[in-house]
Amino acid sequence: MSNKFKNVSNSFSNIDTVQGHCEECKEFTVLVAIIPEFYRCTGCGADTKQHINGRIRYLKLDESEIKFIKENPTPKNGQAKF
Ligand SMILES: [Zn+2]
Repeated sequence: MSNKFKNVSNSFSNIDTVQGHCEECKEFTVLVAIIPEFYRCTGCGADTKQHINGRIRYLKLDESEIKFIKENPTPKNGQAKF
């Protein structure tokens, strides 16, 4: 029995991932949700914003949005109230 491995796979399955086209590296890649509507490219590591306008795009963030992410840790980071 490997409880350690089980925990790792469980926590990974809770992470929201999508496939999309990253504006930063121009690749079709897997993006991981860091907070709702904000995704991080697993290819280049860039943070992007989901933009739905007929089709889904993942856009680069501006300075204020990067700041917003830093100041708003996701509940998945263990910052949720119990
Ligand atoms: Zn990328």
